[in-house]
Amino acid sequence: MITNTERDLICSNLSRGENGELLFASHNLSSLAEKYGTPLYLYDESKIREKCRAYMNAAKDFFPSGARVMYASKAASFKRLYEIINEEGLGIDVVSVGEIYTAHLAAFPLERAYFHSNNKTDTDIKYAISMGVGYFVVDNAEELYAIDRIAGEMGKKQKILLRITPGIDPHTYAAVATGKVDSKFGSAIETGQAEEITALALSLPSLILYGFHCHVGSQIFDADVYLATSKVMLEFVKDMQLKLGYMAYELDIGGGIGVRYVADQPTPDIRATLRSVAEAMEKNARELGIALPTVCFEPGRSIVADAGLTLYTVGTVKRIPGYKNYVSVDGGMADNPRYALYGSPYTLLPVARRVGEDKMVCSVVGRCCESGDILQEGVTMPEDIRRGELIACLTTGAYHYSMASNYNRLGRPPVVMLDGDRDYVAVRREGIEDLTRLDI
Ligand SMILES: *Cc1c(COP(=O)(O)O)cnc(C)c1O
Repeated sequence: MITNTERDLICSNLSRGENGELLFASHNLSSLAEKYGTPLYLYDESKIREKCRAYMNAAKDFFPSGARVMYASKAASFKRLYEIINEEGLGIDVVSVGEIYTAHLAAFPLERAYFHSNNKTDTDIKYAISMGVGYFVVDNAEELYAIDRIAGEMGKKQKILLRITPGIDPHTYAAVATGKVDSKFGSAIETGQAEEITALALSLPSLILYGFHCHVGSQIFDADVYLATSKVMLEFVKDMQLKLGYMAYELDIGGGIGVRYVADQPTPDIRATLRSVAEAMEKNARELGIALPTVCFEPGRSIVADAGLTLYTVGTVKRIPGYKNYVSVDGGMADNPRYALYGSPYTLLPVARRVGEDKMVCSVVGRCCESGDILQEGVTMPEDIRRGELIACLTTGAYHYSMASNYNRLGRPPVVMLDGDRDYVAVRREGIEDLTRLDI
């Protein structure tokens, strides 16, 4: 059960004003709702920059031979964000033509982009090569042939990494060390397919094999997952050196560092995690007698999640005596599908209430025509919460705007950035004319 207490101010950019009102990045949320309407996605620009710097500084301080940080832009993708990521010096992961084009519009140097996905179409491949995307992360042999063929036709040599499945289950990695061999992503070390695809990549004329990539999962709170993963991957690097005479330049160990959505979860220490990964990898490389390749991290969620907050306005409050209470808001699964998809926990707070005014246990639900359109269940709200009040859903910077849909022909909320005292629109609200623009 979620209760509205000071513990629920789960990130350093949340506070309370003198009258008990919830503040985000020191901004008054009622004024922002009045100015921009709701539902409203807010982003705290300084929190995004703080997270970028935590990664970039740790990469510089703990990896003397170099480390790269690529922002996994599927977490949140819009022009202004690519500009901020570029200003902070990170690279980006992209997974579609749409993300590549958006980054291009933001003047992002695409040489610093990795193109992911387990099924790149010929059209995707041609587009990415023509746009100068620096690296492809290749999932499987079929894709390898396609990229080699298309790069050849275009008279280019394309740098690639191979996505390898190290057989680490991020949540039970010690007990089930091969748990993830059956993934739809990548080529497994255990089945011998990783070695086969490495040999194949080395034999194809229009590809330059730059190194290996893996990504074992998301919402990881235990740094040991990265230590186990990097050890398996370094052993694979060594193995390929022995068997194929190929030494990887780069080893990408993916993203996935967790984020605090509710008070019971910890706040992972990015700097400490990278430090322990660096120490373990240097030790492993020494023991294996190989040079440590350039290490790459691909954080998505941990860069943007707690820089985000979504504001909603309460509509219908329905009490079904003896059964359940519902508080409906003017958004829902169209702007935040994560509870409907995976039952993800969130903290929801009434904006203009003092701490401890919460008594009624309810489900906070959206306005879509689906019983499953739920933002969160078991939430405690003030007994007398009523139409017109604001509710904030915390930690919505990752996989919200980027996963939003137009279900029920709802327009997507705007994205408003908060920077010091300033607030400015990064993505405008989708109106009815936007929704019908493509109808013939
Ligand atoms: C999604 C993804 C990431 C980022 O994961 P987060 O949990 O958001 O940090 C990194 N790399 C790859 C290949 C991914 O698919």
